[in-house]
Amino acid sequence: MRLERPDTRGRFAGFGGQFAPETLMPALEELESEFAKAWADPEFHAELDALLRDYVGRPTPVYRAARLSDQFGLELYLKREDLAHTGAHKINNTMGQALLTQRMGKSRVIAETGAGQHGVATATACALLGQECVVYMGEKDIERQALNVHRMRMLGTEVRAVTSGAGTLKDAVSAAMRDWVASVADTHYIIGSVVGPHPFPWIVRELQKVIGEELQSQMSGKEPNRPRPDMVVACVGGGSNAMGIFYPYVGSDVELVGVEAAGYGLETGQHGASLVAGSPGVIHGSMTYLLQDDQGQILEAHSISAGLDYPGVGPEHAYFKEAGLVRYESITDDEAVAAVHLLAATEGIIPALESAHGLAWIAKEAGNLQGKVVVLNLSGRGDKDVEQITGPDE
Ligand SMILES: *Cc1c(COP(=O)(O)O)cnc(C)c1O
Repeated sequence: MRLERPDTRGRFAGFGGQFAPETLMPALEELESEFAKAWADPEFHAELDALLRDYVGRPTPVYRAARLSDQFGLELYLKREDLAHTGAHKINNTMGQALLTQRMGKSRVIAETGAGQHGVATATACALLGQECVVYMGEKDIERQALNVHRMRMLGTEVRAVTSGAGTLKDAVSAAMRDWVASVADTHYIIGSVVGPHPFPWIVRELQKVIGEELQSQMSGKEPNRPRPDMVVACVGGGSNAMGIFYPYVGSDVELVGVEAAGYGLETGQHGASLVAGSPGVIHGSMTYLLQDDQGQILEAHSISAGLDYPGVGPEHAYFKEAGLVRYESITDDEAVAAVHLLAATEGIIPALESAHGLAWIAKEAGNLQGKVVVLNLSGRGDKDVEQITGPDE
């Protein structure tokens, strides 16, 4: 059964919670009550809906991929989050949380980012609302993701290099946490997926579920006799685009499939498949599935797509898995790259490597899906990945 809200301890049947420093507890409590108030306030919704419509470009279209449908022998629809402003679904969340920041009377936003996609979406919302914005990023990631660093700086955001540890996402999260402990009076920390301590997984789910709600009404126009698709497929990194498109369908007869990164292959141990191949534990303030060794040390994830290269997953997905509400599968780097080429050549759409994991799974499974109506959440566009896929000299 779908849970409207986590319980009073912030748990989805055991998963989630608040594994956070004592000093942050009041901030998390304030955030929970402020969001609950905002979310019950028609004025907040009116303001957010206007921004989503006129600035983000919602509703994003649902497109019937005619040539691929023929090729696969099914009805394939794409929910075009790649057409949202900044090129992915992440803006739905950052716009909502930036607006909430304003409502809470806070003037400063912090965030952390690995590949820079969440950083850019946060920087965009803050530029629009005139908020000071600091994004923590590991120094290694700053080198690897120069384009997104330039974008954030153009948007007026300060990108702070984190040199501790391995200089990647984990270290950036710790730095952002340290900042927040000291600055919580005037600062909101925008987390980028359905992860982290309660109330973040709940807030981000509420802000992303617009994807699935739009899809519900759009599909009745496309397939009047079959307004509910047979299946909805989405890639799962932290799990926010999947949560957003799944949530309205959870517990219905629509089959939901989340596709994780199998990286070099599950058997190599070099992957990002926390639900398919991980086990329960605590990461980033929350009890959920993660990749860990026998001692409970968190392992490095690997995926060719930066957005899926994360050793944990949102706690509500852990609940969905154990309750049998969503099926979780995985796709390797090579299969995802092939799917990028397939969609580009067949439909003229270059998808993000993340979203290509979902398409690759549909392509692989097509024989068992003949005649079905299948919707893929096309979480983002692939411009950011072109150089990585084709090599710099081509
Ligand atoms: C960040 C990102 C993801 C992964 O994050 P989720 O929270 O799992 O959605 C997927 N697709 C794109 C395009 C992204 O930028």
